[in-house]
Amino acid sequence: MLAEADIRANLAAVRARVDDACRAAGRRPDEVEVLLATKTQPAARVAVAVAAGARLIGENRVQELAEKDAWLASLPCERHFIGHLQTNKVNQVLRYVSCVQSVDRPDVADRLQRRLAVLDQVLDVLVQVNTSGEDSKFGVAPADAVQLIGEVAKHDRLRVRGLMTVGLQSPDAAAVRASYRALREIRDRARDAVGLELPTLSMGMSGDLESAVAEGATMVRVGSAVFGPRPRPAGR
Ligand SMILES: *Cc1c(COP(=O)(O)O)cnc(C)c1O
Repeated sequence: MLAEADIRANLAAVRARVDDACRAAGRRPDEVEVLLATKTQPAARVAVAVAAGARLIGENRVQELAEKDAWLASLPCERHFIGHLQTNKVNQVLRYVSCVQSVDRPDVADRLQRRLAVLDQVLDVLVQVNTSGEDSKFGVAPADAVQLIGEVAKHDRLRVRGLMTVGLQSPDAAAVRASYRALREIRDRARDAVGLELPTLSMGMSGDLESAVAEGATMVRVGSAVFGPRPRPAGR
């Protein structure tokens, strides 16, 4: 496990990478937020990162949100859900997060809508798109994305803020960048077709955030670059 000083230094290094990537792309650094992907990290580690300035936390599993809640609920950070959401976990996830980034099918939107109506709340959501075409990835297929965005937007309890993707995992930087460009192009098409602003593009991770920023990311999701390698394979 990394020492606290390492977490602080890594967080600063990630922020510097994002800032450099923004300048290289002719963008302002304040256009891109860093979300910390905290799966498998104990709450105490997450708390260190929040003390070091992290303001956005992303969890992949409802179980981990529940386990860490006693620590994290009182900290000055916003929690998002970035993992695959099963419909039977919808009620639970709403206890912990202010945004679900992984809406990728109509039944999840329907279930969120129903529960939010009971709670008399609204929720920010992103629609997750499978831009890599890999079967192992969640997300709506690019060809169906605009239609799904339109359907999700009909739910009056859901505020569709934009799109999220887990891009292609490949050593081919041009192919990775193309998967991020695809998300931006879907956003641009949906903007016209659905008439929503869709300002948020959540894309880019520890290994490829520069490519994502170059293609218009407004939020990068970073785990291992801050916390070190994960002990077991990453959840999605
Ligand atoms: C783990 C994870 C990340 C961060 O991945 P790193 O390579 O550790 O930066 C980003 N997004 C999602 C959905 C993740 O599950």
